[in-house]
Amino acid sequence: MQLSSPKSKLLRAVSPLLCRQCHQSTATVSKRAAEQNCLALLQSCDSLARLIQLQASILKSGLHGNLLVLTKFASTSSDLDAIDYASRFLFASESDTLLYDAFFFNTVIRAYARTGHAKDSAIFYYKLMLGNGVWPNKFTYPFVLKACAGLGSLKLGEQVHGSVGKIGFDTDVHVLNTMVHMYCCCEGGVGFARKLFDEMPKSDSVSWSAMIGGYARLGMSGDAVGLFRRMQISGGRPDEITMVSVLSACTDLGALELGKWLESYIDKEKVPKSVELCNALIDMFAKCGDVDKALRLFRDMGERTIVSWTSVIVGMAMHGRGLESVSLFEEMKEAGTAPDDVTFIALLSACSHSGLVEQGWQYFNSMTKDFAILPKMEHYGCMVDLLSRSGLVKEALDFVKKMPIEPNPVIWRTLVAACRAHGELNLGESITKQLIRNEPMHESNYVLLSNIYAKMYHWEKKTKVREAMDKKGMRKIPGSTMIELNSEIYEFVAGDKAHNQYKEIYNMVDEMGREMKRAGYLPTTSEVLLDIDEEDKEDTLNLHSEKLAIAFALLKTPPGTSIRIVKNLRVCVDCHSATKFISKIYDREIVVRDRNRFHHFRDGICSCNDFW
Ligand code: ZN
Ligand code: ZN
Repeated sequence: MQLSSPKSKLLRAVSPLLCRQCHQSTATVSKRAAEQNCLALLQSCDSLARLIQLQASILKSGLHGNLLVLTKFASTSSDLDAIDYASRFLFASESDTLLYDAFFFNTVIRAYARTGHAKDSAIFYYKLMLGNGVWPNKFTYPFVLKACAGLGSLKLGEQVHGSVGKIGFDTDVHVLNTMVHMYCCCEGGVGFARKLFDEMPKSDSVSWSAMIGGYARLGMSGDAVGLFRRMQISGGRPDEITMVSVLSACTDLGALELGKWLESYIDKEKVPKSVELCNALIDMFAKCGDVDKALRLFRDMGERTIVSWTSVIVGMAMHGRGLESVSLFEEMKEAGTAPDDVTFIALLSACSHSGLVEQGWQYFNSMTKDFAILPKMEHYGCMVDLLSRSGLVKEALDFVKKMPIEPNPVIWRTLVAACRAHGELNLGESITKQLIRNEPMHESNYVLLSNIYAKMYHWEKKTKVREAMDKKGMRKIPGSTMIELNSEIYEFVAGDKAHNQYKEIYNMVDEMGREMKRAGYLPTTSEVLLDIDEEDKEDTLNLHSEKLAIAFALLKTPPGTSIRIVKNLRVCVDCHSATKFISKIYDREIVVRDRNRFHHFRDGICSCNDFW
């Protein structure tokens, strides 16, 4: 939007309606009564059509120079068209006697900042305000900064930050809090946010919440939890919004002990348990491995939203308890809560993780038939996954061919993985070659092809693929595993020697290896070749990150303690088989959350029944 003067807007908008006669005919009416009447009418104005009617009567009663009426006019509607219309009228009403003030501009800026779109219009009116010599006050900036946050422009944010300093609001805690939030919303701005936060002369619960929430949204979960701990030490009071952010960071880390502690902390500090906070607790328990506790919390909730239902359905799905997901879904429908598209993603992935092909089809069809929800890419993806995992590769391929939307590469890659697992290697090869033609820089396509050649025993072709990857300078996502012990979170990568106790850990890995061999374990050596997408091929199997984390836990925890680890990728076949042996040999329950789901290992078997 280009800056233009209010005068030019005057000519564009409503000048034909300004008429001297109207002025005179209403001259006898008490101005005060007209003003009150008009304000009352504006109070109940709910549509653009009504706003236009009221505009005429404002003009008739000569109130177009009344700043109180004009301000009200600007704030009546949250509808973008109405705001646009209103602001055009407001600036058209300019006369020599009418002096726009900060309150008036704030109203217009706020109206725009609150809409989902048109945040640039908020900035436009802020610049207009400055251009007209109207001095912003401390209520101006939170809305301007909110608009900057919505636009996500670091450059703009820094400009506004500069003028906050010049005008002298750089010590106002409310303005600073919004600025911290703004920087967290701009790409590359989190460092600025933290600097600002650290240098704040005084902070309140909103400041902590803005910074912790920023970290949590950006996936910087360790930083979010670290800052929360600092908040407690410095005596900061937690509010509900902060706790929702900390819980989401904790969920991301998969840190159950921290999560349990957070729950008791919420009770101790009497943080009000809103539906959002309860939902965050349910999600945390489900995704940190205690899905039964999540279900208990869900059952105890007085009021449930679709998010509450979806959280428990997802939770059950991740733990391979697909039938329970299905029955929760049926219960939800009976309770009168209509599912949305996210619920269906949860439900279909539950069917997929538990191999419920028939139910999967039934629910997929019911989406459109019973709930008028058009399947999106994710729903098609779930179906392809379900059919592929169940070995129905041909059906999966037919399904993809008949999709009414263009399948995305994720869907094709799912299909290729199925081809590899179920021996449809030629088909897999041809799909993958097509994928590489379409996305020549996407690393996982090459890995898939390389794995297919390994399975075909075409070593030369496989080597060529690896060489092509190296030539293009592609790097794989390194596998890493997190573990929480005594309130600390440790992270291991394959072949890690960064830990100060790495020698003991490696000795423990050797010992585990000897014990496992004695118990009949055979390393899945082909995995070195097959699963190079999951771990670096140079690293030998027993140095995969999850084995290091398990060895560390065996060293550090008393016998009988459950071990919980979080893997960033899908757990490989060899680690899966080794973990089964370890759970039996050392008599430990081992809970592994990988990229897709939970595995509960106990007494030599896994809850996923080797289906993941
Ligand atoms: Zn592994
Ligand atoms: Zn498993």
